[in-house]
Amino acid sequence: MASTAQQQLRAAELRQLLNRAAHAYYVLDAPEFEDAVYDRLYRELLELEQQHPELLSADSPTQRVGGPPAEGFTSVEHRIGMLSLDNAFNAEELQAWDGRLGRQLEDSPEHQRDYVCELKIDGNALALSYADGVLVRAATRGDGSRGEEITANVRTIQAVPLRLQLEQPPAWVEVRGEAFIPDGTFEAINAERQQRGEALFANPRNACAGTLRQLDPKVVAARRLDFFAYTVHLPADADGPKSQWEALQWLETAGFRVNPHRERASGANGVVAFYDRWEQQRHQLPYATDGVVVKLDALERQQLAGFTQKAPRWAIALKYAAEEAPSRLLRLVAQVGRTGVVTPVAEFEAVPLAGTSVSRATLHNADRLEELDLHSGDTIVVRKAGEIIPEVLRVLPELRPEGAERLELPSHCPECGSLLVRESGEAATRCVNSSCPAILRGALRHWVSRQAMDVDGLGGKLIEQLVDRGLVRSIADLYRLDAALLASLERMGEQSASNLIEALAASRQRPWHRLLFALGIHHIGSVNAKTLAAAFPSWEALQGASEEALNELYGIGPEISQSMQQWCSTEANQNLMAELAALDLPLASDDNGADAAAGTGALTGQTLVLTGTLPNLSRVQAQAMIEAAGGKVTGSVSKKTNYVVAGSEAGSKLQKAEKLGVAVIDEEELKRLLQQAG
Ligand code: NAD
Repeated sequence: MASTAQQQLRAAELRQLLNRAAHAYYVLDAPEFEDAVYDRLYRELLELEQQHPELLSADSPTQRVGGPPAEGFTSVEHRIGMLSLDNAFNAEELQAWDGRLGRQLEDSPEHQRDYVCELKIDGNALALSYADGVLVRAATRGDGSRGEEITANVRTIQAVPLRLQLEQPPAWVEVRGEAFIPDGTFEAINAERQQRGEALFANPRNACAGTLRQLDPKVVAARRLDFFAYTVHLPADADGPKSQWEALQWLETAGFRVNPHRERASGANGVVAFYDRWEQQRHQLPYATDGVVVKLDALERQQLAGFTQKAPRWAIALKYAAEEAPSRLLRLVAQVGRTGVVTPVAEFEAVPLAGTSVSRATLHNADRLEELDLHSGDTIVVRKAGEIIPEVLRVLPELRPEGAERLELPSHCPECGSLLVRESGEAATRCVNSSCPAILRGALRHWVSRQAMDVDGLGGKLIEQLVDRGLVRSIADLYRLDAALLASLERMGEQSASNLIEALAASRQRPWHRLLFALGIHHIGSVNAKTLAAAFPSWEALQGASEEALNELYGIGPEISQSMQQWCSTEANQNLMAELAALDLPLASDDNGADAAAGTGALTGQTLVLTGTLPNLSRVQAQAMIEAAGGKVTGSVSKKTNYVVAGSEAGSKLQKAEKLGVAVIDEEELKRLLQQAG
């Protein structure tokens, strides 16, 4: 199949971008991209070239290893070419590689190949030449055929023996391995550079490359590089190792440091088990690893498998899940949240990130969207680390399709069609129509969530149905649903309907502070809701509270008080609260003081007030500890207050305590009281 003009253009753009990135990485030691982003774009180009060989050109980065030797060093020719490694990004790709290798070696389909698994140390490959057992030359990989001669620098690495510990060393040996900088040293180097106002190294690997290219070996010595050996080349007539496993042992005997975390594995499954284990454990290592290197064990079989232009066929680097990757934008959607805030969200071709497949990411707000200058069909870089919500980090304008349109947020709400509003000075664009179905759906999802009213069995899909069919127009409507109606909905039966009715009934038992939180008032999270509910034990009390009284409360600042007051004075909200009260929802603390303390202990029935900054505990921590011991934390000092816990810069509350004769204690004394609680 011939390539289209679009594919030709894409290949040319990718080549240009990747060549520039490789120059920044290999020559300048200052990468422009995350490795994972480079790897993915590289893979895209490789696949394009494989499908359309006519797109392949001599200047493609897929045809080259590394970068040219740097000036200032003598360039030397390698005795044996120093190649790169092909990559696999997940277990499936590793299995596919293992299958291909099996077919090439003409193994029977059930044959389990023997592999050696090693950690992929994130450093720089070195070639060390020994003549009659003495180190005579050390070189970087360079472009694979010529590298930089850096013997004086490598002599400073303690882990590199200057003389082999062999009684009868062969006439020549070439040892290869990885020079690297341990994490602690890397941080120290960067801290020093920062102090001197120098550019920081992006990662230990770049720091290592930069160090190896220092012209002054004393600087190299001070940076304490380390080295793990992993390959040995011996003269053909030497009686050397017969397998990679034996080669590693040979290296150890000869006096090299060899990484101890290595294993022989049988078949792809054995390899994947090693990889999975180290995916977790690698974080405990004092140096960076970015995957596992898998090598066919028997050297004879390695020879049989041979090499491609760039890498051995008998080895592969199985890389760990990336946190950043490029992808192609499919569309920009405007998502309306429960507070009416409209967030631009990018939908793109799915990419694996931090262990999950990601196809949507936030662009935060209109300002960020503008800053990114997003266009239709753009290649974007997306980031997701662990639990963090995926976000679009940047756009690669070099890969923008011709005639692409600039993307903006719509002027009208995509859900209800009303004009969107953006107040001056605010980053957020909002839909201010309180009956917008998107806002209602969000409000309901929040209401039923675990920390709020905890209504089991009312998920997002069901909420969607209820809102879209007009069966629920407000939170109060939830408590008017009947089982027969629920049972008639999609994916609902009689049992699940009656369970839901029960769950809704049970939610009437939640304490007042949970309901206050469940209302989803701007700035009122679960901690603030607790503080407010404790100080104002009913809706009436809260509604009547002055801004001053609210401000007095611990942790409640003017922004929060204003938001609370605004909410209380809005007619629609007052109507909602009246409806909820009529439906028997808890708009006040019950007589058992459910909003006070759940626990019992030395502080049961006692009321404490926190003021000032405590030396060790945050307010939230102190409050949680007091509550766990049965105490109650309120925001203002009265005669009923048992203790005021005062930290530094305590203000009017401390004065009031002194005036009223309330006991004032510090953090130490508080801890002593808590300990009595057992
Ligand atoms: P590679 O790093 O993916 O794999 C080959 C290298 O792995 C070897 O040269 C060796 O140095 C190393 N290695 C570590 N442990 C090993 C072990 N136990 N056995 C064998 N080898 C081991 O490939 P590469 O050709 O060095 O370069 C590609 C890398 O450079 C990729 O990670 C790529 O992301 C990065 N790169 C990044 C940019 C960028 O812009 N960020 C640009 C160019 C290249």
